[in-house]
Order: sequence, then C-alpha cells, then structure tokens
Amino acid sequence: MRCPYCGSLDTQVKDSRPTDDHASIRRRRVCPDCGGRFTTFERVQLRELTVVKRSGRRTVFDRDKLQTSIEVALRKRSVAPERIERMVNGIVRQLESSGEGEIQSSAIGELVMEGLKALDDVAYVRFASVYKNFREARDFEELLGQLGGDEIDTDTKPAPARDDA
Ligand SMILES: [Zn+2]
Repeated sequence: MRCPYCGSLDTQVKDSRPTDDHASIRRRRVCPDCGGRFTTFERVQLRELTVVKRSGRRTVFDRDKLQTSIEVALRKRSVAPERIERMVNGIVRQLESSGEGEIQSSAIGELVMEGLKALDDVAYVRFASVYKNFREARDFEELLGQLGGDEIDTDTKPAPARDDA
C-alpha cells in the first residue's frame, strides 16, 4: 500500500483487526520512510452496483465517493472513523441486498440521510439541507460535488422537514 504522504511503497501493517460489525478489517499502517501513519479498510465486494441518475445516465457505484460525501457532512464533528465506516458498510449492504443491480441515486441519498440522522444531528442537517435544495433540479452526483464547497452555511438554515414524497 503506497504511503499517502511521501509515495513510498514500503509501508508496514502495525495492527490489524475487524471493525465492530465484522464487515471490514481495519489496518493501521506506518511508513518507515517518512513516519506517516494511516489506516486502510479491507472489505467484501459482493457485486458491482449501477447507479441510475435522475438524468437516466448510469454510472458504476463508487463506495469511496459515497464515503467522502458523508465525511464532508461530518467535517469537524467528533465521530469516530469506525462509526462512519460502519454506516457506509450498512448502506452498501442494504444496496447490495436489495436484489437490484441498478439503484436510483435518490435511494442512496435517502439512505445517507437516515444514517446521518442516527449518527450526528448537525451532519444530518448539513446533508439534508443541501440534498433537499438539490433533489428537485439536480441529481445526486452533483450534490456530492456541491457538498465539498464552502458556501454551505449550516448555522443559518433550519432543520428541513423530511420529505417522503
Ligand atoms: Zn511515507
């Protein structure tokens, strides 16, 4: 595994153990070249999922992209990486066990909202307010990009009502 700090290929595993839900193996790694420490997760991929966007365009489901958007919503919130990992595992498991090879992007958005609601109120409001604003006109793909921006002001927005339509 390449060191994310210096690019060295000679990194070592210091510790390896399953996450609480036993859906992943968490490995703590250290780079002997620069001393950098980082964590990797190993998990099962049952099958490839296809996301159908609002536009009808299809794209391969990207777990990392999903996780990044969740982490952005959780930015500066003190939520352990293991809990985020477990939440993403749960979402992926639900998608994989749905029996559908193709998933509507809006269904993923709803699962993220549910997961964040249970995990952290502030992150939920951040995600939900952006999601709600964009769900009408744009698809989830654009939402993911939008979440990375700094223009989201979570302090001034009221918690949005849940729209189950
Ligand atoms: Zn390094």
